[in-house]
Amino acid sequence: MDSIEKWKKRYMSSDTAAVTKMFLPDIEAAYRLLQKLELSPILVQVLTGHGGFSSYLYRFKCKNSPECVCDSQKEESVEHLLLEYPKYLQDRFKLEMVTNMQPKKENISKLLACKKHRNRFITYCIDIAKDVINRNKTK
Ligand SMILES: [Zn+2]
Repeated sequence: MDSIEKWKKRYMSSDTAAVTKMFLPDIEAAYRLLQKLELSPILVQVLTGHGGFSSYLYRFKCKNSPECVCDSQKEESVEHLLLEYPKYLQDRFKLEMVTNMQPKKENISKLLACKKHRNRFITYCIDIAKDVINRNKTK
Protein backbone atom coordinates (compact mmCIF):
# COMPACT_ATOMS: atom_id res chain seq x y z
CA MET A 1 0.00 0.00 0.00
CA ASP A 2 1.52 3.30 -0.98
CA SER A 3 1.41 6.37 1.20
CA ILE A 4 -1.61 7.90 -0.53
CA GLU A 5 -3.56 4.72 0.06
CA LYS A 6 -2.55 4.81 3.69
CA TRP A 7 -3.54 8.45 3.97
CA LYS A 8 -6.91 7.69 2.37
CA LYS A 9 -7.57 4.92 4.82
CA ARG A 10 -6.67 7.12 7.73
CA TYR A 11 -8.78 9.96 6.37
CA MET A 12 -11.86 7.83 5.98
CA SER A 13 -11.58 6.08 9.33
CA SER A 14 -10.76 9.00 11.58
CA ASP A 15 -13.67 10.87 13.08
CA THR A 16 -11.58 13.81 14.18
CA ALA A 17 -11.54 14.88 10.53
CA ALA A 18 -15.28 15.60 10.55
CA VAL A 19 -14.83 19.27 9.66
CA THR A 20 -12.37 18.49 6.89
CA LYS A 21 -14.78 15.96 5.44
CA MET A 22 -17.50 18.59 5.34
CA PHE A 23 -15.27 20.58 2.97
CA LEU A 24 -13.64 17.67 1.21
CA PRO A 25 -15.80 14.54 1.37
CA ASP A 26 -14.15 12.90 -1.60
CA ILE A 27 -10.59 11.88 -0.89
CA GLU A 28 -9.39 11.86 -4.50
CA ALA A 29 -10.77 15.32 -5.13
CA ALA A 30 -9.37 16.48 -1.79
CA TYR A 31 -5.92 15.35 -2.73
CA ARG A 32 -6.01 17.19 -6.05
CA LEU A 33 -7.56 20.32 -4.60
CA LEU A 34 -5.16 20.60 -1.67
CA GLN A 35 -2.29 20.80 -4.12
CA LYS A 36 -3.94 23.74 -5.86
CA LEU A 37 -4.98 25.71 -2.81
CA GLU A 38 -2.78 28.21 -1.14
CA LEU A 39 -3.05 26.93 2.39
CA SER A 40 -2.63 29.87 4.70
CA PRO A 41 -2.62 29.11 8.45
CA ILE A 42 -6.08 30.61 8.74
CA LEU A 43 -7.48 28.53 5.90
CA VAL A 44 -6.07 25.41 7.52
CA GLN A 45 -7.91 26.35 10.73
CA VAL A 46 -11.14 26.63 8.76
CA LEU A 47 -10.67 23.39 6.86
CA THR A 48 -9.75 21.36 9.92
CA GLY A 49 -11.80 23.14 12.60
CA HIS A 50 -8.63 23.09 14.70
CA GLY A 51 -8.14 26.68 15.69
CA GLY A 52 -9.47 29.64 17.56
CA PHE A 53 -13.12 28.57 17.50
CA SER A 54 -14.92 28.18 20.83
CA SER A 55 -15.97 24.60 20.12
CA TYR A 56 -12.35 23.65 19.59
CA LEU A 57 -10.94 25.81 22.39
CA TYR A 58 -13.45 24.29 24.79
CA ARG A 59 -12.49 20.77 23.78
CA PHE A 60 -8.91 21.54 24.64
CA LYS A 61 -9.83 23.34 27.86
CA CYS A 62 -8.77 26.73 26.60
CA LYS A 63 -12.25 28.15 27.04
CA ASN A 64 -15.01 27.57 29.58
CA SER A 65 -17.77 27.08 27.07
CA PRO A 66 -18.17 26.05 23.43
CA GLU A 67 -21.05 28.44 22.90
CA CYS A 68 -21.25 31.16 20.29
CA VAL A 69 -21.80 34.84 21.13
CA CYS A 70 -25.01 34.85 19.06
CA ASP A 71 -26.83 32.08 20.92
CA SER A 72 -25.86 30.16 24.05
CA GLN A 73 -27.55 27.07 22.61
CA LYS A 74 -25.25 27.03 19.60
CA GLU A 75 -21.73 25.78 19.50
CA GLU A 76 -19.28 28.08 17.83
CA SER A 77 -18.16 25.54 15.26
CA VAL A 78 -16.96 26.14 11.72
CA GLU A 79 -20.25 24.77 10.45
CA HIS A 80 -22.28 27.16 12.59
CA LEU A 81 -20.12 30.13 11.66
CA LEU A 82 -20.34 29.52 7.93
CA LEU A 83 -24.01 28.58 7.76
CA GLU A 84 -25.84 30.27 10.62
CA TYR A 85 -23.81 32.99 12.26
CA PRO A 86 -26.10 36.07 12.09
CA LYS A 87 -23.33 38.63 11.85
CA TYR A 88 -22.47 37.36 8.37
CA LEU A 89 -26.02 37.00 7.11
CA GLN A 90 -25.51 39.67 4.50
CA ASP A 91 -22.28 38.19 3.20
CA ARG A 92 -23.95 34.79 3.13
CA PHE A 93 -26.83 36.20 1.15
CA LYS A 94 -24.46 37.77 -1.37
CA LEU A 95 -22.57 34.51 -1.66
CA GLU A 96 -25.81 32.70 -2.38
CA MET A 97 -26.82 35.24 -5.01
CA VAL A 98 -23.49 34.98 -6.80
CA THR A 99 -23.05 31.22 -6.60
CA ASN A 100 -26.69 30.23 -6.79
CA MET A 101 -26.03 27.74 -4.01
CA GLN A 102 -27.83 27.83 -0.71
CA PRO A 103 -25.67 27.98 2.41
CA LYS A 104 -26.28 24.41 3.51
CA LYS A 105 -23.92 21.81 4.86
CA GLU A 106 -24.10 19.69 1.72
CA ASN A 107 -23.16 22.68 -0.42
CA ILE A 108 -19.95 23.50 1.42
CA SER A 109 -17.91 20.93 -0.48
CA LYS A 110 -19.54 21.99 -3.75
CA LEU A 111 -18.60 25.62 -3.18
CA LEU A 112 -15.02 24.65 -2.54
CA ALA A 113 -14.92 22.36 -5.55
CA CYS A 114 -16.40 24.95 -7.88
CA LYS A 115 -13.60 26.54 -9.87
CA LYS A 116 -15.65 29.61 -10.62
CA HIS A 117 -16.70 30.40 -7.06
CA ARG A 118 -13.97 28.81 -4.96
CA ASN A 119 -12.01 31.99 -4.28
CA ARG A 120 -15.07 33.93 -3.29
CA PHE A 121 -16.13 31.16 -0.94
CA ILE A 122 -12.67 30.90 0.60
CA THR A 123 -12.61 34.65 1.15
CA TYR A 124 -15.98 34.41 2.87
CA CYS A 125 -14.65 31.65 5.15
CA ILE A 126 -11.42 33.48 5.94
CA ASP A 127 -13.16 36.77 6.76
CA ILE A 128 -15.39 35.07 9.31
CA ALA A 129 -12.57 32.99 10.76
CA LYS A 130 -10.30 36.00 11.21
CA ASP A 131 -13.04 37.90 12.96
CA VAL A 132 -13.93 35.05 15.32
CA ILE A 133 -10.38 33.95 16.08
CA ASN A 134 -9.50 37.52 16.91
CA ARG A 135 -12.49 37.86 19.20
CA ASN A 136 -11.59 34.69 21.04
CA LYS A 137 -8.04 35.91 21.52
CA THR A 138 -9.06 39.10 23.23
CA LYS A 139 -11.38 37.41 25.72
ZN1 LIG B 1 -23.36 32.00 16.63
